[in-house]
Amino acid sequence: MRTSLVVGNWKMNGGLATNARLLDRLVSEWRPSEGRALTVCAPYPYLGQAQAALASSAIAWGAQDVSAHAAGAFTGDVSAGMLVEFGCRYAIVGHSERRHIHRESDVEVAQKAKAALSAGITPIACVGETLAERDAGKTEAVVMRQLGAVVEALGADLAKIVLAYEPVWAIGTGRTATPAQAQEVHATLRAELTKARAPNICILYGGSVKAANAAALFAMTDVDGGLVGGASLDADEFLAIARA
Ligand code: PEP
Repeated sequence: MRTSLVVGNWKMNGGLATNARLLDRLVSEWRPSEGRALTVCAPYPYLGQAQAALASSAIAWGAQDVSAHAAGAFTGDVSAGMLVEFGCRYAIVGHSERRHIHRESDVEVAQKAKAALSAGITPIACVGETLAERDAGKTEAVVMRQLGAVVEALGADLAKIVLAYEPVWAIGTGRTATPAQAQEVHATLRAELTKARAPNICILYGGSVKAANAAALFAMTDVDGGLVGGASLDADEFLAIARA
């Protein structure tokens, strides 16, 4: 039985007042019996606010990144051990914005996933191709390379991660993969995970998910939920996606 999950990625957005309004709406309107787990990944300074607001709710919270290192001279970085002290359940690793803007390599992303797991945090490992890579017919090769680094680093712990397929050309662009395009890649990823003895990993789709397209995407056999950026900042949209 696979878990269904919807994760909001606020990216570098928010403020104390707007976060409070959003979190209040989620807490008062989300019912865990609705069959899908819900999580928000806030910027680091607001994780304490998320922790306090969500403490007595069924909604989990996570970070948008985590260091591959446990402690030391890594100015600006935050370790998994620090996050877990606050009750952090998830950490996104390898988001395309970090791969491209911060030049994170496949190996570094895999090490971040490993560090998260060793502290008891579930990494949400992101993979996805750019438009140029898709147009060049390299989608499968790219996502397999990115997944391969994670498989190699985690071994038997692979079964404990969440995977997110996020085509880079669909993130924040308003251009969504069609359900069939998403399913095609998810099925390829699932086949690889099955070979690596982790067939039941939750695989999320991310890339301009909205209330209007969520149901069609989530109806695909190998799509177990969504990683939602822009639409997770709007309570009505995010709740509608979570219920889709
Ligand atoms: C994301 O940030 O992971 C994402 C998918 O963003 P958006 O939903 O805005 O495309």
